Amino acid sequence: LLPNPKDTNATILLMGLRRGGKSSICKVVFHNMQPLDTLYLESTSKPTTEQFSSLIDLSVMELPGQLNYFEPNYDSERLFSSIGALVYVIDSQDEYLNALTNLSMIIEFAYKVNPKINIEVLIHKIDGLSEDYRIDAQRDIMQRTGDELLDLGLEGVQVSFYLTSIFDHSIYEAFSRIVQKLIPELPSLENMLDNLVQHSSIDKVFLFDVNSKIYVATDSSPVDIQTYEVCAEFIDITIDLDDLYVENEESNRKQDSESVKELKSISHLSSGSILYLKQMIRGLALVAIIRNDDIRNSVNNNNNINSDFNDSNGEELLSSSSSNQDKSLTIIDYNVNLFKQSLMRMWENSRMVNQNDFSENSQ
Ligand code: GDP
Repeated sequence: LLPNPKDTNATILLMGLRRGGKSSICKVVFHNMQPLDTLYLESTSKPTTEQFSSLIDLSVMELPGQLNYFEPNYDSERLFSSIGALVYVIDSQDEYLNALTNLSMIIEFAYKVNPKINIEVLIHKIDGLSEDYRIDAQRDIMQRTGDELLDLGLEGVQVSFYLTSIFDHSIYEAFSRIVQKLIPELPSLENMLDNLVQHSSIDKVFLFDVNSKIYVATDSSPVDIQTYEVCAEFIDITIDLDDLYVENEESNRKQDSESVKELKSISHLSSGSILYLKQMIRGLALVAIIRNDDIRNSVNNNNNINSDFNDSNGEELLSSSSSNQDKSLTIIDYNVNLFKQSLMRMWENSRMVNQNDFSENSQ
C-alpha cells in the first residue's frame, strides 16, 4: 500500500566512516534504544534500511563505512540519483581528516549524479567535547570541507552542518531539520501552524512523528531545545499513561467498534503554562505549549477566537465550559480540529498526486 520511497525522493542516505555512530543514530532515533546500549552494537557490515512512514514515506539507508561505493559492481549512480538527502556522520572525538577527504569525494560523486541532493553533515559525538572545542571543531571542519570542495571546483554546493550527540536532543533536532527539507508541503504546514498559534494563545507548537520524536513541522518562532525536550517527553508520558487504560479501551471498542480512539492529553505545568497533545494522522501528534496569562485575556475580550469558530457553534461551546481555562481549551480544541482536517486534506491531495505518478511508473 505504501508508496515506494524511491519514487517520492524521500530516502535519506546515512554514510560515514566505520564506528562514526551511524548504527547508533538509527537505533536511538528510530528504535528508541537507550544511548548507552549502543556501546555494544556490532559494527554494520551490510547496508540496512529503516522505513519511516510519517507525513511522507521516508526511508533511512545506512551504508557501512568499509563498503567501496565506487566499485563497478556497486550501482552507486542509481543509488545517489534516487535519494533526497545525504547525511554524512563525522566522529568529532576522533581524528577526522580522513573522513573529510571521504566526504568531499562522496559529495563530488553525489552532486554530479544528482545536483538536487541535500548534503547534511553531522559533527557527531560532541558530548565528549568542551564548549570551546565544539566551536573550534565545527569551524575547522567547515573550513576544510569548503577548501576541499573549492579544489574540486564545487564551491557552489550547499552543505549544512549540525553538532550532534545521541546523549541529548541534538540528534533529534538535526534529523528534524533534515527531514523537514524533504517535505514538499512544509511551507503550507508552517503557515497553518502559525495561524493556529495566532488564534489560540499558543507559545510554541510542534507536529511530531510520535515514534521517532522527530518534528516534521513547527511554527515560525525559534525552537528552544528545552521546549522541544518538554514536548517530546510529554509524548512518552502520554503514551505510557494511555497504555494503562488499554483494557478499558478494549471493552469500549467492543461496544462501539466504529469509533477509533484518538489520543489526547492536557497537563498543567507549575509555571502556569499548559501542555497540550492531540493525535493527528499518520503517526503524528500535535504538541503545544499554551500560555496561561493569555488564557484569561482571551476569555475576557474574546479576540483570540478563530472566526470560523464564531460563525458556527462558538457560543454554544463557550457557554458549556465551566471555568476560563476550560473555555480557552475549548477554543484550542476547535482550532486544532480544524488544523487536523486541513492536514488530512493535505495528505490526501499529496497521496493522489503520488498515486498518479505511480500508476504511470509502475504499471
Ligand atoms: P557505525 O560503525 O558508524 O555504525 O558506528 P556505531 O553506531 O557502531 O558506533 C560506534 C561507537 O560510537 C559505539 O560504541 C557508540 O556507542 C558510539 N557512539 C555513537 N554515537 C555517539 C555519541 O553521540 N557520543 C558518544 N560519546 N559515543 C557515540
